[in-house]
Amino acid sequence: YQAKRDRSGCEVYEAKRDGNTPDRLGLLGDLRRALDAGDVELHYQPKVGFDGRVRGLEALVRWVHPERGRVSPDEFIAIAESSGLMPHLTEYVLETALRQVAAWRGKGLMVPVAVNVSPRDVHTPGFAGSVAARLARHGVPPSALQLEITEHVLLEDPQRAADTLAGLTGHGVKMSLDDFGTGYSSLVHLRRLPVSELKIDRSFVARLAVDNEDAEIVRCTVDLAHSLGLLVVAEGVEDDETWERLRDLGCDAVQGWLVAAAMPPDETTAWLRLRGESGWQRGEPTVRPE
Ligand code: C2E
Ligand code: MG
Ligand code: MG
Ligand code: MG
Repeated sequence: YQAKRDRSGCEVYEAKRDGNTPDRLGLLGDLRRALDAGDVELHYQPKVGFDGRVRGLEALVRWVHPERGRVSPDEFIAIAESSGLMPHLTEYVLETALRQVAAWRGKGLMVPVAVNVSPRDVHTPGFAGSVAARLARHGVPPSALQLEITEHVLLEDPQRAADTLAGLTGHGVKMSLDDFGTGYSSLVHLRRLPVSELKIDRSFVARLAVDNEDAEIVRCTVDLAHSLGLLVVAEGVEDDETWERLRDLGCDAVQGWLVAAAMPPDETTAWLRLRGESGWQRGEPTVRPE
């Protein structure tokens, strides 16, 4: 590949090549400003066990663009990843989530929170230490934080990724392997990553009750994870039948609209107050996405 250069030898920006269309660049600038202004929010989605007990919450980033309205995380996370803004976004999310965890703990709501981190973060030098420092600053024990990673962390410099992850688990932070089953899933990865939880991707869960092949994939994944001593969480559980199948397959916990979609902080506090003790019971009204 030969970069295009102008007469002074500077590399010429080519929109076609890096996918940074003016539209994406506009969004990137807007996202940077929204982070600086604190206009990006976190919503929280519960993970519950089959006894209904609340196991934790997952923080999911939400951004409402002043002109375009809601922008999907899949869209702006990709932009942040390909532009160098990702570490900044992750710092913002960690900071916001830990402040919230500390506030909940102050109210007697001792719920652990999971934060999604991108491969880029795991490869940022000093990441493990900065997470530990942030926990200490907020007075939050490492056991109250979980980080969700994907197998993509191993694509580039697997040794460095493994070292960072070992550093994090050494500090007492639990790791969860997100979106399992999509892409590169392999036993090698599972052995190499110091995770204590595996999340089965929604694409296998969605048709579990009607598709035998998907049901077999989920069954094998649950058995494999358990044989490696991992907890299994199913993503995207939307109905009772899927819940029952997952319970019968030995899955440990679920997340999905059947229980609750991601909720704004205040609504999450109210939800926790109601379900913290007795747990979530099937048949209760569910919280659908806004
Ligand atoms: P993910 O971590 O796998 O999160 C699960 C996604 O599934 C979320 O989408 C959630 O709202 C959605 N979901 C949960 N339950 C159901 C259900 O029952 N049915 C259906 N149809 N969907 C359900 P969301 O919030 O749009 O996030 C998409 C992805 O963006 C996330 O996938 C995660 O990879 C990424 N993401 C979100 N927040 C962050 C963040 O703070 N940092 C990073 N690095 N990535 C994030
Ligand atoms: Mg996740
Ligand atoms: Mg996931
Ligand atoms: Mg997923």
